[in-house]
Amino acid sequence: MATVSINLATGSVQKEEIIVGIDLGTTNSLVAFINPDGNPQVINDTGKGVLVPSVVHFQPDGSVIVGNEAKEHLITDTQNTIFSVKRLLGRSFDDIKAHSELFSYKIIDDDSESMVKINAGGRYYTPIELSAMVLKELKDRAEHALKTAVNRAVITVPAYFNDSQRQATRDAGKLAGLDVLRIVNEPTAASLAYGIGLDPEEEKTIAVYDLGGGTFDVSVLKIQNGIFEVLATNGDTFLGGDDFDQAIVNYWIEANQLQNRMNDDTLRQALRLKAEEAKKALTTQNLFNDFVGEIPCAITRMKFEELISAKVEQTIQSCRNALADANLNISDIQEVVMVGGSTRTPLVKRKVSEFFAQEVHDKINPDEVVALGAAIQSDILAGNRKDILLLDVTPLSLGIETMGGLMDVIIPRNAKVPSKAGRQYTTSIDGQANMKISVYQGERDLVKENRKLAEFDLKGIPGMPAGFPKVDINFRLNADGILTVEAVELRSGVKQKVEVKPTYGLTDEEVEKMLIDSIQNAKEDVSRRMLIESRTEGEQMVYTVERFLQKNKDQVSEQETLDTQKLLDALKAALVSGDKDLIHKSIDELNEFTRPFAERLMNVAIGTAMKGRRVE
Ligand code: ADP
Ligand code: MG
Repeated sequence: MATVSINLATGSVQKEEIIVGIDLGTTNSLVAFINPDGNPQVINDTGKGVLVPSVVHFQPDGSVIVGNEAKEHLITDTQNTIFSVKRLLGRSFDDIKAHSELFSYKIIDDDSESMVKINAGGRYYTPIELSAMVLKELKDRAEHALKTAVNRAVITVPAYFNDSQRQATRDAGKLAGLDVLRIVNEPTAASLAYGIGLDPEEEKTIAVYDLGGGTFDVSVLKIQNGIFEVLATNGDTFLGGDDFDQAIVNYWIEANQLQNRMNDDTLRQALRLKAEEAKKALTTQNLFNDFVGEIPCAITRMKFEELISAKVEQTIQSCRNALADANLNISDIQEVVMVGGSTRTPLVKRKVSEFFAQEVHDKINPDEVVALGAAIQSDILAGNRKDILLLDVTPLSLGIETMGGLMDVIIPRNAKVPSKAGRQYTTSIDGQANMKISVYQGERDLVKENRKLAEFDLKGIPGMPAGFPKVDINFRLNADGILTVEAVELRSGVKQKVEVKPTYGLTDEEVEKMLIDSIQNAKEDVSRRMLIESRTEGEQMVYTVERFLQKNKDQVSEQETLDTQKLLDALKAALVSGDKDLIHKSIDELNEFTRPFAERLMNVAIGTAMKGRRVE
C-alpha cells in the first residue's frame, strides 16, 4: 500500500508523488507525466511506442491483451476484439442503438435504459471494465518506464461528455487502480499544452478543433481567471480518419474492379491498412504507389483531397454552428488549437485555418497534445506550479443515495468552489408520493461508509407509474462552503430544499482518513457497485417478465410459459448467488427467449388498431 500525502489546504496530493495525465481516446490512448525538468513528456515504454490502440482482445485461453497486439485481431476475430469502447462508456442501449451495426462485437440490448454490456470471450463486461483494461495497460507502461508506482491520474474526456459518461470514466480509473484526481475536458488540456490559459490574468476566447480516428468535435472555450468555460461544442461522433481510409479503399475497389471480392476479410483488412498507410504518406508527399498482393494501390494527394473534401466541409459546418451557438463571430476567436491525428492531413489544416482566418496551433504533435496538457493539469493540482493560483476545491465528493444504497456523486472531489451540478431521478414504485433524499459526503461507493450530511422528503408527488416522475436534484456549493440541495418534481412543480455546511465538524484527519480508505478499498468498492447494479437490473427484469406472463396468458403457449419459468428461476438463483457474470448471463438468456413475446404482442396491438379503424 502506497502512502498518501494530502495537502489538506487544497485537497491535493503532495508533490513527491507522480501524477500522470491520461488521454483515454476512442482510437488511441496514451499517458504523459512531468519530467524532472518540469516539462510535460509522453511515456514511451521501450519499443512499444507512445500510442496504445484502445483495443482489447480476449484470447481463447481466457487471457486479455490490449493495444497493438489486440488490434491485429480486429478483422479476424471480431467477436472477441473490442474497439471504440469509449463510445459505450456511460451509455444505455437506447443511446447507441442507431449505430449498433458499427460494432462487430456483441452488445447486450436487454433493458434499453440500463448501461450497455458486451459479451466477449464467453463473459459479460461493462464498458467500465473494458476501459479499465486500457487504463491498466497505460498504468503498467508508466510504472515500467518511470520505475515507480503510479497511483494517481488526471484523465481527459470530450467536452460534450455528460455526467454519467464522466462518472463511468472515473469508475474505470478506480477499477484500474488509479485515484482519479480530476476529469478534465480534452480541449482544456490541449489548450494548456500550448500554454494558453496558464496565466491567470489572461482572458481569451479560443476554438479547439479535434479530428480523431472516428470522432470529430469542435469546442469554443472562454478562458478567464484560470477557468475554462465551454461556450459551445459541436461535431459528429461518427466522423474521423477512419472515413478517410474508407474513401481510399472505395477508390481502389472501384479502380481495380474488386466489388465481388469484398467478402474476403483478409483482403479487406489488408486494403484498409494500406489505405491508412497511403493517407499518412500523403500528409508529406504528393503520390502514394504500392501493391496489396497483385492489386495496384496508387493515389495522388489531389485525388485524396477530392475524395475527402465533403467530409472536411462537414467539419467546417460544425465550426460555423458552434460559433453561432456561442453567439460569436469568427473575429472573436483569438486562438485555434488543432488536436487529433487526422488534423495532420494538409487539407484539414488549410480549411480550418481558412475558416478561422488565422494561423492555427499545430506545433505540438496532435495525437499527444491532450495527454501532455493532462500532465500539466496534474502538476497544477499537485501544487507544483507556484505561478498558478490553485483555486479552492472541495476535498470530498458530495452526492445522494440511490437504489441499493449506492452513492451517486453529484459534485466530485477536487471540483472548484463555487460549483453547481444536478441530475435527474425518478421513482421506483407505482404511485410513489414521497421520495427520500439523503445527502452524503465521501469517496466510498456505498453510502453507509460515507458521511451523512442531511436528509429530507420530497412530498406530494402526484400518483404516477414508476419511472414517470422527473425529479431534478441540484447541488450548489457557494464560496463560503455552504451546500444547498434542491429537489423539484418537474411534472407537478413540488419542491423542497436543504442547506448544510459539509466541512462543519470535519477535521483534517478525518478527511485524510476518508481519502485513504477510499483508495485502499477502490477495487472492491467498484466490484460491489457493479454487483448491486446488476442485481437491481435483474430484479427489475424478474418483475417485468412475471407481470407480463400474468397479463398476457393468451399470447404465450403453455410450453413457452414453462420455459420462461425455468429461465426466471435461473435468474432468481443467479441473483442469490452474487455472481455478477451469472446474473448478466441469465438476464441475457431470459431476454433472448422472451423478446419474441413482446414483438408478438406488438403485432396484436397493431392488428387490433387496424381492425378498429376498419369501420365499413
Ligand atoms: P482518437 O482521439 O479518436 O483516439 P487520434 O487522435 O489518435 O484518435 O487519431 C487517430 C487518427 O489519426 C487515425 O485515423 C489515424 O489514421 C490518423 N492519423 C495519424 N497519423 C496521421 C497522418 N500522418 N496523417 C493523417 N492522418 C493521420
Ligand atoms: Mg482524441
